[in-house]
Amino acid sequence: MDFATRIAAWQQRHGRHDLPWQNTRDPYRIWLSEIMLQQTQVGTVIPYYERFLGRFPDLHALAAADQEAVMPYWAGLGYYARARNLHRCAQVIVSDWGGRFPPDASAIATLPGIGRSTAAAIAAFAYGERSPIMDGNVKRVFARHFGIAGDPARRETEIRLWALADAQLADGAGQAVDMAAYTQGLMDLGATVCVRGKPRCERCPVNETCIARRDGRQAELPTPKARKASPERRTGMLLLQHDGKLLLERRPSPGIWGGLWSLPEFDAGLDAAAACKALGAAPGAVFELAAFSHTFTHFRLHVRPWYVVVSQAPAALERPWRWVDAAGAADVALPAPVRKLIDGLFAAGLPQDVMAPAA
Ligand code: SF4
Repeated sequence: MDFATRIAAWQQRHGRHDLPWQNTRDPYRIWLSEIMLQQTQVGTVIPYYERFLGRFPDLHALAAADQEAVMPYWAGLGYYARARNLHRCAQVIVSDWGGRFPPDASAIATLPGIGRSTAAAIAAFAYGERSPIMDGNVKRVFARHFGIAGDPARRETEIRLWALADAQLADGAGQAVDMAAYTQGLMDLGATVCVRGKPRCERCPVNETCIARRDGRQAELPTPKARKASPERRTGMLLLQHDGKLLLERRPSPGIWGGLWSLPEFDAGLDAAAACKALGAAPGAVFELAAFSHTFTHFRLHVRPWYVVVSQAPAALERPWRWVDAAGAADVALPAPVRKLIDGLFAAGLPQDVMAPAA
C-alpha cells in the first residue's frame, strides 16, 4: 500500500474524529480552525474557536464587524497578525469573491495571511482537493520517513520536502486516497505519534518504510535549527490609576500586539514619575510591581511595571486611549500578560497604600 493510503487508512481507524472543526465541509469553519491552530495547540484553540463562532457564525458576520470587535475574541491566543488577516480576508472574500470562499487551493493562497499549506488543508477538507500540506508537524514526519537532513525552515530543504509531498499524490500514487483523511492523518500522526521528543514508532502506519527508524536517526531528524541567542528588549509599563480606573492605550497596527489595548510604555531606564508627567499626568503615590518577561517569536521582552496613583489625568495622548474599571477591562482585547497584571490589580482593589513604595 502506498504512503498516502496507509496514512489515510490509519486516520480512519485511529485518528482524531471529534474535534469541533471536523465533520464539516464549510470552508469558513475549516479556515478559522486552520488559522487558530497555527503555532497553537488543539486544547488551547477549542474554547477560542467555539467562542469566536458564537459571535461570528459565518463569513458575512465577520466581514461586517469592526476589527476592534474581533480582537477580544482572539486576545490571549497570541500572534495577533492572524486575527487582523482573518478579518481582512473575510472582507476581501466579500468584496472580490462575491462572499463565496475561493474554489481551490491556488485561489485560496492569494488571500491575506494564507500560505500554501493552509490553503491546501482548507481545500482538502472543504473540497477534497488533491493538494499536499507541509506544516511544521508534517515536515517532521516527512524528514524522518524519507530521511531528509537539513533545517526544514531553510529554502532548499523545504523545496525537497514539498517535492516529496507532491510525489505522494502524483499519478499512480495515492490515487484513490480520501484527501480529508490523508490530510488529517498527517496532522494526527505528527501531533500524536511522530512527536518531537520520542516518536512512538511501534504505532506508526508507515514504520516499515521509515528511513529514520531503519537507521535509528529519529533523534537527529529533522535537523535542529542552528540556535541564535534571542534578542532581549526592556520596557517600562505604567498602570495609571485615576478615580478607580486604569489608563489603556491602543497599540499601533501593524506591530507587536497591534490593534490590542495595552498599558502606556516608556523607556525602562527612565523614572516612572517622569514618564507619567511626560504623558501630562500628575503622579501621586508610585509603586513598582513585580517585573516579568514575555517571549515573542523573535525576542524576549522584560517588563518593569509601575503602578501610579495620579491626581490629575492626562489631557490627551497621541494614540487612542481609554480609562477602564474592572468591568471595562474585561470587555477589551488585552495581551495575555497585560491581562494578568491588570486583573491582579483589580482583584486587589486598586491598592492605594498596601504596597511598598518604590525606592
Ligand atoms: S516510524 Fe517513527 S520516526 Fe518514522 S514516521 Fe513513523 S513515528 Fe515517525
